[in-house]
Amino acid sequence: MKKIILPLFIMVLASCGDPKVNSENKNSSTQRDGQFDNYKNNFVEQLWKIYPGWASSQGYHNYDSVLIIPDESSRTKEIAFAKANLDSLKNYELSALSDNNKTDHHMIKNQLESIIWNTTEFRSYEWNPSEYNVSGAFAEMLNGNYDSLDVRLRNFYLKMANIPAFYEAAKKNIKNPTLEHTQLAIDQNLGGISVFEKDFHDALNKTRFGEHEKQSMEATAKMAVTAIKDYTDWLKKLDNKSPRSFRLGKELYSKKFEFDIQSGYSADQIYTKALEHKKDLHQKMFVLADKLWKKYLPEKSKPTDTLLLIRQMIDKLSEKHVAADSFQSAISQQIPMLVDFIKKKDLIYIDPSKPLVVRKEPDYMAGVAGASISAPGPYDKNGNTYYNVGSLSGWDKATAESYLREYNHYILQILNIHEAIPGHYTQLVYSNQSPSLIKSLFGNSTMIEGWAVYTERMMLENGYGNNTGSEEASDEMWLMYYKWNLRSTCNTILDYSVHTKDMSKEEAMKLLIDQAFQQKTEAENKWRRVSVTQVQLCCYFTGYTEIYDFREELKKKMGNEFNLKKFHEKFLSYGSAPVKYIRELMLAEMNKK
Ligand code: ZN
Ligand code: ZN
Repeated sequence: MKKIILPLFIMVLASCGDPKVNSENKNSSTQRDGQFDNYKNNFVEQLWKIYPGWASSQGYHNYDSVLIIPDESSRTKEIAFAKANLDSLKNYELSALSDNNKTDHHMIKNQLESIIWNTTEFRSYEWNPSEYNVSGAFAEMLNGNYDSLDVRLRNFYLKMANIPAFYEAAKKNIKNPTLEHTQLAIDQNLGGISVFEKDFHDALNKTRFGEHEKQSMEATAKMAVTAIKDYTDWLKKLDNKSPRSFRLGKELYSKKFEFDIQSGYSADQIYTKALEHKKDLHQKMFVLADKLWKKYLPEKSKPTDTLLLIRQMIDKLSEKHVAADSFQSAISQQIPMLVDFIKKKDLIYIDPSKPLVVRKEPDYMAGVAGASISAPGPYDKNGNTYYNVGSLSGWDKATAESYLREYNHYILQILNIHEAIPGHYTQLVYSNQSPSLIKSLFGNSTMIEGWAVYTERMMLENGYGNNTGSEEASDEMWLMYYKWNLRSTCNTILDYSVHTKDMSKEEAMKLLIDQAFQQKTEAENKWRRVSVTQVQLCCYFTGYTEIYDFREELKKKMGNEFNLKKFHEKFLSYGSAPVKYIRELMLAEMNKK
């Protein structure tokens, strides 16, 4: 399945239209916005014809039975679609549009240029065999409850017919793939076979289809299984004498960073900022760990190595954690405390009519633990938004203990800030107030993740996580927060260094374990992730840095006029748009006054 945008943790609920209009030029503006709204609707309708699989994943089910064969002719259509729409966009002068439509205009343009660049320059369809994997989309059809099982199965059946041709086209596309993506493709494709071998069969048995229909469905499923196995066999035997490196190289990396991150900073600038930030964090952590030593480890002699001293203090503080069986209740109890704190400190308006629904994670998510937000897709307006909280029941003792230390007393609170309030959930509530189908489809993950990471620091700056009787966050809380913040900082350093500076696995392990204080398993997983993805690991630190820098810039400009609550509410009112455009619009509005 071809995915253009990987949804990161949340999807944004929205509907189209309802642009906000500037007070000036109201009449002509409204008219132009109306025309642009029509254009956008038409654009999305066309988009779904080109990318039916993406449509299904967003809850638009008209093309559920279509599987596009990824050959030259489908790529030609994609490029023609992108070029035609880039032309159409030129008809809409940015200055005549509302703020909401301005950012939509930028985001559509970026998406279209990215389609052309991906097809002509990036060409991952040649070197990334894991782009070809149909099982996820088919599994969604079995699990979704958007339509009756009969309808879903009949679409499943029709769509399945193209699977052999799909993998034949894949084989023709692939040239000198990377070894990492080849292995990933083999593992993921084999892992997905059960959808056709077992899950489909089980679902079919729940229907009252006639024997004849069932038989031809089963036969098609067998053909699908054969095609997938044939593809993985072909990959295993591939005579790949000069495999491509999984490292992107500077040129492609910088360009991909521009398209995917859409930051006001370049990849090089963000890398430099991350290095400086890491240094700064280490200094602050040393001061705190040194100060806390007497309180927690009075008997123990202090290591002379500062990083080692920090690590030992972190290990000590991590012992404070909830019991395995109260993990869920601890998370639920923190939500109202976060809301109270925000109200007391006047940090941002929290709409009381939209409380967060905390629930035990549903079965299909089980085993992930932690917490995550699930929001309904853009076409599912009546769906609920949930805060899924995992349970550790059934985990063996050692695994649970290691997990609870990772999500200890301090980090668990930061996680709730990030995922729920005032992080992802609050951002979602605000973005729904300026609904935009475009932003819910192309929502900028750098802004979304950046906001969540920004709020962690903002809450502590305002005294969240204090010892009783104090108005300031405790030293313990800050130290653990810095460790958490080092994770996103080092994600950026790692991603950039691996893809553009040839960083070895050994050097990467040193960075993550010795300098970011991670456990070996976490570091190993991160290495695996960086060798099959590019740029995505940068979105957290980049977004955080942009928002933080922008806030400081405004503070300087406005002096006593600056109001934190107003800043937050205004910033979020633009929806999930890239920070650089929000900044531009906010500054323009300020200058008008
Ligand atoms: Zn313990
Ligand atoms: Zn997040």
